[in-house]
Amino acid sequence: MAKQEDYYSVLGVNRNADQNELKSAYRKMAMKYHPDRNPGNPEAEEKFKTINEAFEVLSDPQKRQIYDNYGAEGLNGAGAGGFHGGFGGFEDIFSSVFGDMFGGSFGGASTGGRRRAQRGGDLKEEVEVTLEEAYDGIEKEVSYTRVDTCSTCHGTGAQEGSGRKTCPTCRGSGVVQFSQGFFSMRQSCPDCGGQGSIVEKPCRDCKGTGRQRSKAKFTVKIPAGVKEGVVLRVPNGGDIGTNDGGYGDLYIQTHVKKHKIFQRDGDDLVLEIPLSYPQAALGAAIKIQNIKKEEIQVVIPQGSQHGRVVTVDGEGMPVLGKAGKKGNLRVVVNLEVPKKLTPRQKKLIEELGQAFEEEGQKKSLFEKIFG
Ligand SMILES: [Zn+2]
Ligand SMILES: [Zn+2]
Repeated sequence: MAKQEDYYSVLGVNRNADQNELKSAYRKMAMKYHPDRNPGNPEAEEKFKTINEAFEVLSDPQKRQIYDNYGAEGLNGAGAGGFHGGFGGFEDIFSSVFGDMFGGSFGGASTGGRRRAQRGGDLKEEVEVTLEEAYDGIEKEVSYTRVDTCSTCHGTGAQEGSGRKTCPTCRGSGVVQFSQGFFSMRQSCPDCGGQGSIVEKPCRDCKGTGRQRSKAKFTVKIPAGVKEGVVLRVPNGGDIGTNDGGYGDLYIQTHVKKHKIFQRDGDDLVLEIPLSYPQAALGAAIKIQNIKKEEIQVVIPQGSQHGRVVTVDGEGMPVLGKAGKKGNLRVVVNLEVPKKLTPRQKKLIEELGQAFEEEGQKKSLFEKIFG
C-alpha cells in the first residue's frame, strides 16, 4: 500500500470510539464491501482488506496504542514478520464478528467453530421377486441394518440421567484460539467438535456418538414389469448423518427369479410347447395357460416346422413404466418324435410312409438335399 490510509477514517469513527462503536462500524463497512456482495470488483476487494486491517488493529488495545503513537509504521516494525506480511488473519476476525451471517460462503467457515453437517451414507440392498410378482408388481418389506440415532440415548450421546457439560477445552465457545505473533488464530474445538459442550457420561451403547447400528425395515413398491437388475431408490433409507445432516438413501436392486415354464426376453415371454407330427402337419388349436394361469388358445398353422414361433399379442410382461402396455407371448413349436410306438401307431406310420411314396413325394435323399 503506497499511502497508508488512516484506520479511523477507513472505518468512519472518531479517535475516541469504543469497542462497540468500532464493531458496529466495522460490521457496516465490511457488509458493504464484502467480496460476496461485490463480485469482480477489485476496488471493493481492496477496500474490504483495508477495512479488515483497520479493525484488526483498532480492536486490539495494544495494537491500537502503537498505532495511535507511531502510526502504521510503528506496527510494521513491531511484530514478528511485520504487520502486512503477517496479514491474512482477517478471515478469522471476520467470522468471529459475523458469526453465521454468511454461512459457509466465506473462507472463515473452516475456522469459525461451526459444526459441519454431513449427510449419511447411501446403502444398497437386494430383493428377489418371482416372475409372477414382477408381472403384477408387489410391495416387499426389506429388512437390513443401518446407522441410526442411538435408541438408548436418543441421539444425545449421554447416559440416562446425565446431561451435557460445558466443554472444558473451549469453555463453551466451540472454538480454540491460539496466538501467532500479533494474531490470534481460531479453529473448531477438537474436543467437542465445535459444539461447545460434551456429554458428562457417554452412553454405553453408542460410546457417546449418539449413533448406533440398528435394524431397519422399509416397504418398497416394486412396479409391474420390473426387470432383472432394476434399482429402486428409497429416499432417507440410508445411514443417518452427523450434526443434522440427514439420512442417505437406500438403493434396492431387484432380482427376478427364473420361471419353471416361461422364459423372459425383454417384455416378451417365451414358451416352448411339444407338438406331435400330425399336429404340426395338420395344424392344431392348443390350449395353454398364460402366466396368470388363465387358459388361452394358441393356433398352430398347418405345416408348422420344428422351432416355428407363434406370437400371441399382449400375453407378455407389462412394460415397465407404461401402464396397460404389455409385451407378447412367443410360443415355440417343439416337434416331438415318439421314441416308443404301439403296434397300431407303427402300422399307421408305415402306411403314411407308403402313401408318401405312392404319391411320388418320396425322392432320394440325394435329390432332397441337392435336387
Ligand atoms: Zn447412545
Ligand atoms: Zn470444545
